[in-house]
Amino acid sequence: MYDVIVIGSGPAGYVAAIRASQLGLKTACIEKSFDADGNSQLGGTCLNVGCIPSKALLDSSHRYSDAINHLSNHGIEVSKPKLDIAKMMERKNKIVTQLTTGVSGLFKANKVTQILGHAKIIDSNHVEVISKDGSETLETKNIVIATGSSPINIPVAEINNKDIVDSTGALEFDSVPKKLGIIGAGVIGLELGSVWSRLGSEVTVLEAMDEFLPMADKRIAKDVLKEFNTQGLNINLGCKVTSAISNKKDITVTYENNGNTTELKVDKLIVAVGRSPNTENLLDKNCGLSIDEKGFIPVNDFCETNVQNIWAVGDVVRGPMLAHKASEEGIMVVERIAGKHAEMEYDLVPSVIYTHPEVAWVGQTEEDLSAAGIEFKTGSFPFAANGRALASGESAGFIKVIADKKTDTILGVHAFGPSAADIVQQGVVAMEFGASAEDLGLTIFSHPTVSEALHEAALAVNGQAIHIGNRKK
Ligand code: FAD
Ligand code: NAD
Repeated sequence: MYDVIVIGSGPAGYVAAIRASQLGLKTACIEKSFDADGNSQLGGTCLNVGCIPSKALLDSSHRYSDAINHLSNHGIEVSKPKLDIAKMMERKNKIVTQLTTGVSGLFKANKVTQILGHAKIIDSNHVEVISKDGSETLETKNIVIATGSSPINIPVAEINNKDIVDSTGALEFDSVPKKLGIIGAGVIGLELGSVWSRLGSEVTVLEAMDEFLPMADKRIAKDVLKEFNTQGLNINLGCKVTSAISNKKDITVTYENNGNTTELKVDKLIVAVGRSPNTENLLDKNCGLSIDEKGFIPVNDFCETNVQNIWAVGDVVRGPMLAHKASEEGIMVVERIAGKHAEMEYDLVPSVIYTHPEVAWVGQTEEDLSAAGIEFKTGSFPFAANGRALASGESAGFIKVIADKKTDTILGVHAFGPSAADIVQQGVVAMEFGASAEDLGLTIFSHPTVSEALHEAALAVNGQAIHIGNRKK
C-alpha cells in the first residue's frame, strides 16, 4: 500500500513525488512515456518537448542572430556564421537527456518508486497500471493526478508530422524552412517563431483574435507587437484559417481577414493554438471523478477534486499552463497530504515569454484593476534611460510598477526588455512579502544593472524617479 501514487512525471508530478518522499510518505510515480530503450521517459512536456528544448533553441538562435546582426556594433567583425542545424539539435537533445536522466537519479536518491505504464484510476484507493507486460492494480491512500496537457489540433490544419507540425515537431526541423507559417500568436507561436525567424525563415503568424497578447499589459502588448513585426515575425491579427493543404512542394494556407480571403504559401506550418488536458482513458467509469466539458479536472484552491483523497495538479487543472505553477501545486498537495497547511498564492504566478527582448509580468494589469474598481497608481521606466541596458545595446522596452493608490502596496509588475523575466522575479519576491512601491524604492540596487529600471519604476510610482523628469514637489 502506497501513501501517494502520482500519475505523470512532468514538473507537477515529479516534484510532487520527490517532496512526498521527503516528507516520509511511501510514494510511487507512474509515467506512460518511454525512451528508445524502453525505460520511463521522465520530465513530461516541460523537460522533453517544452520549456527546456525550446529555451535551448532560443539561446542557440539568439547567438546566431547576434553574431549576424549585432557583433559589428561592438566593433567585432566576423565572417558570416555558418549554421549546423544537426549540431544545434544534438546540443538541445543532450540537455534534455541530462535533465530527464537527472529526474530518474532524483527519484532513486529520494526513494520514489518509478513505474512505467498507463495509469487508470479505479477508485480513490486503486490505480491500474497498463504496460506491455500486462496490467496490475496498485493500492494507495492518496492519488495525485499530474497528467499534463497536449497540443490542440484543429481540423482545418491537421498535423501530419511532416510539413504541418505542432510545437513538438517545430523543435525538430532538420533544416531552416524558407517560408514558415504559424497559426496562433500565443506564447509558443512567438517563441518558436522567434527561433526560426532568427535562423533565417520568413515567418508569417496568423492569429484568430483581433487583440494581441490580451493577458499582458496593454502598452506592453502594443510595443511587443511593433518590435516583433520589426524583427520579421509578420504577425497578422483577426485571421480565420479555413484550410491548409499540403502537397509535395509546399502548403497553401487559406485565411479570411476583414472580409478578404488570402492564400499563403509556406514550406512548413506550425499549429500553436493552445493545449488541452490529458484525461483520456484516465478514469474508470465508476471512479466518480468529475471532468469538465473541456477535459479539465475541476479542483478547489487546494487542488482537491470532488473525490476525497484524489488530487489534481498542473496543466490538467484550471489556471495558467506553466511549469512553475504545476510544481508549486504538486508541492502544496503532498504537503497537505502530510498534514501541513500549505497553500498557493495564485496571484503571484509570474508569466514570461522568452523572446528577445523578454516579456514578463506578475500580478494585476491596469485593466484588471479598473474592472475590479480598485484605485491604483503606476510608475514606468524605459530601458533607454538605464545605463547597463545602453551599454549592452539592449535599450528597447520598459518596466511598469502598479501600486494601490492608498496603501502603496505593489499590485503588479510588467516588463518588456532585457532580462525582464529575472527583473519581474524580484517583483514577485517583493509582492510575496507585501512590499509597497516605497519599500522597493528604499531598496539598494547594484549599479550598473538592468534591475535598476525596476528601482526607478518603483520610485516613479510616487513621482521620485531620478533618471526621468517626473519629480513631484
Ligand atoms: P506535463 O509536463 O505535460 O507532464 C504530464 C506527464 O504525464 C507526461 O509525461 C505524460 O506522459 C504523463 N501521463 C499522462 N497521462 C498519463 C497516464 N494516464 N498514465 C501515466 N502517465 C501519464 N512552461 C513554463 O513555465 N515555462 C516555459 O518556458 C514553457 N515553455 C514551453 C514550451 C513549449 C514548446 C511547450 C509545449 C510548453 C511550455 N511550457 C512552459 C508549459 C509547460 O511545459 C507545462 O505547463 C508543464 O509541462 C506542465 O506540467 P505537468 O506536470 O502538469 O504536465
Ligand atoms: P496560447 O494559449 O498561449 O496561444 C494560442 C493562440 O492561438 C491564442 O492567441 C489564440 O487566440 C490563438 N488561436 C486559437 N485558435 C486559433 C485558430 N484556429 N486560428 C488562429 N489562432 C488561433 O497557447 P500556445 O502558444 O499553444 O501555448 C500553450 C501553453 O503552453 C500556454 O498556455 C502557455 O502557457 C504554455 N507555454 C508557456 C511558455 C512560457 O511560459 N514561456 C512557453 C510556451 C508554452
